[in-house]
Amino acid sequence: MKEIIKAFLRDELEQYLTSFGLIEDFKNNLLKCHICEEIITRKNLGALTKRNGKLIIICEKPECFQMLSANENNEE
Ligand SMILES: [Zn+2]
Repeated sequence: MKEIIKAFLRDELEQYLTSFGLIEDFKNNLLKCHICEEIITRKNLGALTKRNGKLIIICEKPECFQMLSANENNEE
């Protein structure tokens, strides 16, 4: 199973978002949960992980985290 970053520091988060070119989207409330497509903010950000060089972000809902974990396990 790939690393899923569940708990992270604010600086770490911004570093990730910046390196993937998503920081502006995040600041403008344009980032969506990979699973349920809810807008991601600092308050509801649940986890992020890398997949195929892309950054996958999900909200804090347990369903979304479970779904992400399930997907990770099914992947080669
Ligand atoms: Zn979600």
